[in-house]
Amino acid sequence: MARNKGIRVIETVSELQSVIREFKKKKQTIGFTPTLGALHEGHATLIQRSKKENDISVCSIFVNPTQFNEKSDLKKYPRTFEADKKILEKIGCDILFFPNEKEIYPNGSDYAIKVNLDGLDKRMEGAFRPGHFEGVVQVVYRLLEIVKAHHLYMGQKDFQQFTIIQKMIDKLKIKTKLVVCPIKREKDGLAMSSRNRRLGKTIRKNAIILNKTLKSVKLKMDSQSPEELCQFALHKLNIIDFKPEYFIIIDGYKLTPIRSFDDTEYAVACTAVWAGDVRLIDNMILKSKK
Ligand code: AMP
Repeated sequence: MARNKGIRVIETVSELQSVIREFKKKKQTIGFTPTLGALHEGHATLIQRSKKENDISVCSIFVNPTQFNEKSDLKKYPRTFEADKKILEKIGCDILFFPNEKEIYPNGSDYAIKVNLDGLDKRMEGAFRPGHFEGVVQVVYRLLEIVKAHHLYMGQKDFQQFTIIQKMIDKLKIKTKLVVCPIKREKDGLAMSSRNRRLGKTIRKNAIILNKTLKSVKLKMDSQSPEELCQFALHKLNIIDFKPEYFIIIDGYKLTPIRSFDDTEYAVACTAVWAGDVRLIDNMILKSKK
């Protein structure tokens, strides 16, 4: 174990588990934020919330190969360990768990827990990124098995992801409580993402079209149907260098498209757009009881 200005960097499961056991003996609560690294202020908001709500905060950095359906995407994924560690130290995160693949998948990555996700994994991202959510469920299950956190922090940015993880937690009766944090955006409205650093200058500037479109849809929802709004949005997103993959208005619980805003109390617009060769996702809650 390396000690670093207050942050413990732990690379093995056995060491992390023994440290966690000590915390639990002292009745300390544990907040856990899993990430792929290349940390930005969006990740920071999750860890800050974890710090506020728990005695000990653990962040993991693991670029999980099983959730990348495109091997080229896995290869291109930014790896910025030193910068990430500095960010975590600044926030005051207690433990950085930085395992290698063997630690996470000691018996190989073929074996994965089977959970019936009631089809939540088949739509949107699931339809365009086959195998992605199997990989996400596999790694989050494994990480929770290791960390046994009281609270798990995830971002609304990945709307389908947190919905699926909540389903997994419910179905497997896992004791960890999921806490979802709002989307942190750049000043111009672009949702923060590790992928943004791969955007060229002009494409980066024009990428505000995602947030702008979501905002326009929200403004128009009293006068147009979900289907009309999706058509409008797809048209608006179709600018030079940009290619929308989907724009869909869904029931936020079932993740199925809605025909009318009267059909649900929880309506969410979700989109995925290719910005050059970078795939961006974003979403906005249009209607919610909360
Ligand atoms: P990732 O490293 O992309 O797997 O993200 C780790 C966690 O950070 C996930 O739960 C994401 O939803 C969350 N996250 C990523 N970007 C943002 C953002 N802009 N605002 C809030 N949370 C985010």
